Amino acid sequence: MLNIYPVHAFKDNYIWVIHNQDYAVVVDPGIASPVIEYLALKKLQLSAILITHHHHDHTGGNAELLQLFDIPVYGPQHEFISTVTHSVKEGDRLSLSEISLHLTVLDTPGHTQGHIAYYGSDPINLVFCGDTLFSCGCGRIFEGTPQQLYESLQKICRLPDDTLAYCTHEYTLSNIRFARTVDPKNLQLIELERSAQALRNQNIPTIPTTLALEKAVNPFLRCNQQDIVNSAQNYAATSLADPLSVFTVLREWKNNF
Ligand code: ZN
Ligand code: FE
Repeated sequence: MLNIYPVHAFKDNYIWVIHNQDYAVVVDPGIASPVIEYLALKKLQLSAILITHHHHDHTGGNAELLQLFDIPVYGPQHEFISTVTHSVKEGDRLSLSEISLHLTVLDTPGHTQGHIAYYGSDPINLVFCGDTLFSCGCGRIFEGTPQQLYESLQKICRLPDDTLAYCTHEYTLSNIRFARTVDPKNLQLIELERSAQALRNQNIPTIPTTLALEKAVNPFLRCNQQDIVNSAQNYAATSLADPLSVFTVLREWKNNF
């Protein structure tokens, strides 16, 4: 039986702890102490760390965890992270035998130049997508280009519709406010706002989300929908010829929203 537990960190980060009865793997531990507390509470031994990108809120806990556990740290080949012991890239497969989980790496640049995601299909379809895809939104473009981030999101969306996406931030409600401005007639979005608000009122995470839901509500995945094209064209006061141009305008608009 696999559990995937969100350890809360900083203002809005989730550090995902994937575990069975005995062993755990942690994704993007930006800080060690709440992870160590959870491991102690559940009497778990950490067996690996997975890193999606170099930002401190995703890597800051590595050194302290490595003082307690002599374990591999997987991270992106195209970024320098001093605590990473195993550099991985698109297509590489990880066998996390202690928790009986196999994951495959996707290169998902855009938020950072070397950002990666990890996906698996057994026992469920899932993807740890770091700061690439958020519920109803996407990461900021810090190092890459709009085209890179657009293609990375499209790549994630080619995974099965029922894939659970484990994002690393709780940005859903603020993302929905932007999405409703861009896509005001989307009834599923209105419904999502209601359900997400109810969860947040009880301090329950809105993550994981599913790719099926994201394709229905996330404006950054819907750049070929006429309502969204129209909104982006109005904002940019120019006509936009293709989905990438729409995406580029939406990302810019969201930065200023
Ligand atoms: Zn980041
Ligand atoms: Fe982050």
